[in-house]
Amino acid sequence: DKTPVTVLGLGLMGSALAEALLAAGHPVTVWNRTPAKAAPLVAKGAVQASVPDEALAAGPLVIVCLSLYSDAGDVLAGASLTGRTVVQLTNGTPRQARALAETVTGRDGRYVDGGIMAVPQMIGKPGALILYSGDEAAFTEHRDVLAALAEPRHLGGDPGLAPLYDLALLDGMYGMLAGFYHGLALVRSENVEAAEFTPMAVAWLTAMLRSLPAGGRAVDTGEFGTDVSSITTSQVAFPGLIETCRDQGVDPWYLLPLRDLLDRAVAEGHGSDGLARMVTLLERG
Ligand code: NDP
Repeated sequence: DKTPVTVLGLGLMGSALAEALLAAGHPVTVWNRTPAKAAPLVAKGAVQASVPDEALAAGPLVIVCLSLYSDAGDVLAGASLTGRTVVQLTNGTPRQARALAETVTGRDGRYVDGGIMAVPQMIGKPGALILYSGDEAAFTEHRDVLAALAEPRHLGGDPGLAPLYDLALLDGMYGMLAGFYHGLALVRSENVEAAEFTPMAVAWLTAMLRSLPAGGRAVDTGEFGTDVSSITTSQVAFPGLIETCRDQGVDPWYLLPLRDLLDRAVAEGHGSDGLARMVTLLERG
């Protein structure tokens, strides 16, 4: 008597989601635009629907995982959503999530948005996290089913919250990756191999990650004073960093807007604050 689940979209992620649900013993009905992708799941016991409407009729819980948010709107268009909980795991923006939530609730369905903080290989295993937001009663009702995919964490009733957190976490990831690859380009200008530089970068960035909780507390309390490293310390180091990039034939790239922000922080009298102060300058942007 496990809850039947419908999965719409069997790309790399949708297939992993369907597989984890099958492994947890749920009856799973799947639909994919390209029908052939369902074959490995059917072999493991999934039922294949030929149109989305047929898949939606199979049970109360519908998981959607397509390329684009607009694809989800297209696939659900015209289908009956009465009594259905739509869990939308396609990546999107807060605005898109709020709009689709209105569409689904307007058609007597319930709407939960989700942001998957995992790659397909992590689904169904410890360490995977999925952030949810939207209809809390519907989430709670299906929490145990969703736990078969990843640790489920509900952030609040506004459906835009999961994509907001998801994008904010990606923001941090891209900044870190951009900095690592940029630094790698800098040492490669002297023929240093990545294999030599990478362990140092991992140790350094790991040590720097430990400063995040203190930085976050500074933002929450508004107390930006530091006994670690001031904005002025970074600001005076930046011209040398940018000059070295140019000397070594490497594009200074994201360092230029960062230098401008540090200059602005000092000009506005925040030089003795820690780098966490940058948050308040960005919020005016
Ligand atoms: P894939 O490219 O592997 O799969 C895309 C899926 O969307 C396929 O099932 C495809 O169908 C379907 N699709 C695309 N356009 C349409 C359309 N117009 N109508 C109907 N179906 C359509 O992508 P992933 O599975 O990797 O990603 C799916 C979502 O999950 C994305 O939003 C992604 O950002 C998110 N995600 C993915 C992660 C990952 O590591 N892969 C991590 C976290 C989130 P068809 O087979 O017919 O082409």
